[in-house]
This record gives sequence, C-alpha cells and structure tokens, in this order.
Amino acid sequence: MSSMTVLFAQSENVRVIAFGAHPDDCDIRAAGTAALFHAAGAAVKFVSVTNGDAGHQTLHGVPLAARRLAEAKESARRLGIEYEVLDNHDGELLPTLEVRRQIIRLIRQWNADIVLAPRPNDYHPDHRYTGVLVQDAAYMVVVPNLLPEVPALRKNPVFLYYEDTFQRPNPFRPDIAVDIDSVIDKKIDALDSHVSQFYEWLPWVDGKLADVPANPAERKAWLKRARTRAINPQVRASLIKWYGSQKGNAAKYYEAFEICEYGVQPDEARIRQLFPMLH
Ligand SMILES: [Zn+2]
Repeated sequence: MSSMTVLFAQSENVRVIAFGAHPDDCDIRAAGTAALFHAAGAAVKFVSVTNGDAGHQTLHGVPLAARRLAEAKESARRLGIEYEVLDNHDGELLPTLEVRRQIIRLIRQWNADIVLAPRPNDYHPDHRYTGVLVQDAAYMVVVPNLLPEVPALRKNPVFLYYEDTFQRPNPFRPDIAVDIDSVIDKKIDALDSHVSQFYEWLPWVDGKLADVPANPAERKAWLKRARTRAINPQVRASLIKWYGSQKGNAAKYYEAFEICEYGVQPDEARIRQLFPMLH
C-alpha cells in the first residue's frame, strides 16, 4: 500500500466527473490528474459531450464517431477510468435543455464530488457551450423537481474549470495546481490513444502533418514535446502553495484548475481532502 493510498483511506471515496466537448478534450486538460486520482482510489469518469464526428480531414460521420469512441475507450483503459461519449454532433453543439438534462443526469448518476469543465470563453463553440451547459447544470443537480426520474444530489459538488489561455473577459486563475511529474508518461500514453486527432487531424489543421514521425515511439516523444509547456509564475506560486517550496519548485509538469463560483465553495482544508495528491 502506497503512502498515497494510506492517506486516502483516512478520507472519503472521492468521485470525479470531467466534461469535454470532444473525445480528447478531458484528456488534454486532466489526464494526469485523473491518473493520480485513480491511483488514490477515487472514481473518475470522462464525458465527451459530442461524438467527435467532424474532427478529421478525410473521415466523417458514423465511421469517424466509431473510431473516436474506440480511441476514448482505449485512453480510459490506459488511465484506469471510465469514458462516456454522448451522441451529439461535433461542431453543432448548442446549450439546449435536452443537453443540459443529459449533463444533470450524468452528474447525479455519478454522485459527483468534483465536476471539471471548460470555461465558457473559447474559440470553439463546442468548448464554449460545454462550459455553459455545465454551469447551467451546477445548481439544477440539487433541485429534485428538475429531471425527477434521477434522484437529485443532496450536496452540491465542487465545480472546477480547466486551464486555458484566453484573456477576455478575465484570464484563467490557477487556484489548484497539480504536480503530474509522476504520471506525465501515463498522460502522454492516454493522448497517444487518440491517433485520429494528435497524429492526423490536429497536425493537418496546423499544416504540420509532415512533421509527425512515422515510428510509434518517436511520435509519442514528439507528442510529449508538443503537449507540455513551461510553467508560468502564477502556476508556480500555486504549486508552491499546495506542495511547499521544495516540491513546488521542482515540479516540471502540471495541470491547473480554477474554482467556479457556482457549486459548493471549498476552503483549503476541503480541497486537500478532495485532492489527496496535494502534499
Ligand atoms: Zn475540443
């Protein structure tokens, strides 16, 4: 039994559900944190709100959605978590009552303590509306008269935003920064499952398809270089706050989260209970 498991056994069975617009979004923003939660005994589920059926230069529709579902399931297998892909069209997501109900249902059924989602400001409308949809669910998950066939939660979860780089109307604030050095290769391994995205579609969009190495080990190393970034001063300060100066200064890889103003507002002690890796 690792020290992390011992620490966790003294607290509770934390349940985490993460929403992304596409079947790779949660992985990009939170696969490392998900791997650490899993190692600590928490239950983690990723949800893609669309089926990803528009994200490719040569495939589309049902065959693309099927390929992306298989990639998401493989990513989940590598992380030790669950992955659900909702059958809404990619590139056409709207914040409708129907999709809001899908999200309320999933948060309730997971009995979530922590809900992760994008902020509602983003270049991609699917990302933006995923942020809006989760915000719209943030109070309704505790209202029994809404979606009465699925029992309402008796306590509101903590809602957290993923990191992004958008500056308007306000920049991301790294309230929580998780050191993912110990699981960075597991995170890259999860991203590597999404072959249609990281090695085909996204490089094609960027005009860099020729840069992708053909050899599987080389392309995974290329992916790691492409998907890790330098730590800015705000994130470094947050790492030091949560881990102390020695470990906080030594961390090379991280994922950061901002506490949403909706949902329950956790104090520092509560955050440490919910995130057993912060020590
Ligand atoms: Zn996306």
